[in-house]
Amino acid sequence: MNDIYIKGIELPARVRGNVVKIEDDFFVFVNTVLSPECQRCAAEHELMHIKKDHFFNEEPVIHDELEAGYGR
Ligand SMILES: [Zn+2]
Repeated sequence: MNDIYIKGIELPARVRGNVVKIEDDFFVFVNTVLSPECQRCAAEHELMHIKKDHFFNEEPVIHDELEAGYGR
């Protein structure tokens, strides 16, 4: 029930992180190519998408990215 898992994986350099919802759980993936500080920022960004319920709103993607702190 709405557990959040955070995992570091190697992704293409332009990808900071991603979050996937599988059934009731969220899986946050953070790019291990990034510096430790950037990995932390990327994780916070993805967690903000979960916190702000971006999986369930009808807003355009750019709205959600700005609300989550785009570029952080
Ligand atoms: Zn985002």
